[in-house]
Amino acid sequence: MNLAGARVLGSNSSVKRSKILQHHLCDRIAMPSFRHRAQALSESEKSQIKPDFSFGIVADIQYADIPDGHSYHGTPRFYRNAKAALRRAVSMLREGSIPLSFTIQLGDIVDGNCKENAEKALDGILGELNAFGKPVYHMLGNHCLYNLDRELLHQKMEIPNLPADGGSYYSFEPHPSWRFVVLDSYDVSLPGWEPSHPRYQLALEWLKKNNPNENKNNPQGLEGVERRWVAFGGGASPEQVAWFKQQLQEASAKKQRVMVFSHLPFQPGTAPNPCLQWNYEELLDVMRGSSCVVATFAGHAHQNGYVRDEWGIHHLVLPSVLETPPGRDCYGHIKVYGDKVKLVGTDCMMSLDMSLGRKVLQEAA
Ligand SMILES: [Zn+2]
Repeated sequence: MNLAGARVLGSNSSVKRSKILQHHLCDRIAMPSFRHRAQALSESEKSQIKPDFSFGIVADIQYADIPDGHSYHGTPRFYRNAKAALRRAVSMLREGSIPLSFTIQLGDIVDGNCKENAEKALDGILGELNAFGKPVYHMLGNHCLYNLDRELLHQKMEIPNLPADGGSYYSFEPHPSWRFVVLDSYDVSLPGWEPSHPRYQLALEWLKKNNPNENKNNPQGLEGVERRWVAFGGGASPEQVAWFKQQLQEASAKKQRVMVFSHLPFQPGTAPNPCLQWNYEELLDVMRGSSCVVATFAGHAHQNGYVRDEWGIHHLVLPSVLETPPGRDCYGHIKVYGDKVKLVGTDCMMSLDMSLGRKVLQEAA
């Protein structure tokens, strides 16, 4: 993990720098008792004002029934342990002192290395998540799409209100004052579509235009944020962008605040550049043109990352269950108040207080 990426912009941010640093170190130094820390947080929370609602959050479970391995960069990956870590997370989220209304998983529920047993792996992890006993909202990551059909994923994950174009974006209202928008990072992508599909063809066109390497998974020669033009990435179609604008207009009309969830990060500085969504700038412009978006949450990068942009939007990237060593934990819950949002991370996941003040560059057309 690289918490150099957890930059803080904006003068009124309430991020606790020391706490983020603590979680940065937590990736490298064994903590004496994560359970004690989780319990201590819960006890201190009891005396605070009741939130309007709360929910659980988990990222990149990436389970596979295969021996441990490493990422491309050499980070250890604990494939089988991911299920045990998730079971513990679900148990703690279900039985914790804060009642949670639902949980959100940020994509890559299974790993792409379980080709033969992908559906069995998916069923097993969905079974663990469903033990939560309340709704679980899902989104698709690249690993979900390497071996599993989109339609099958939609069906098994019981994703609500899907668009007719086969994409995986949707929204829901967890509270009258809030709208949660789940974007599909792989609406335009190579994984998940047949090569003849227009969205695959569009992805190929974008990749050819922006990555001159023969192997489109190789960002060699690309500089800075241009390194996002890799074949394991993806983007949002013009149809999804139009739908997103409409969602924000509707939310504004209803005086709702909005949180945005996505597998791929939007904001440079929250994650290594190859992890950024292809057309992140277009999506950020939509968010910044409307005063209702408060925060974005993403996974994919397997690290804590945080930037509050100059328009006051909080951009968070959350670490993976997969790369959390056995015996350690990586999940959180989010408490939503009228004037702030509070992420309470457990063990390897950072904690953060977010105020809701926003500036708007221009109103969305
Ligand atoms: Zn991913």
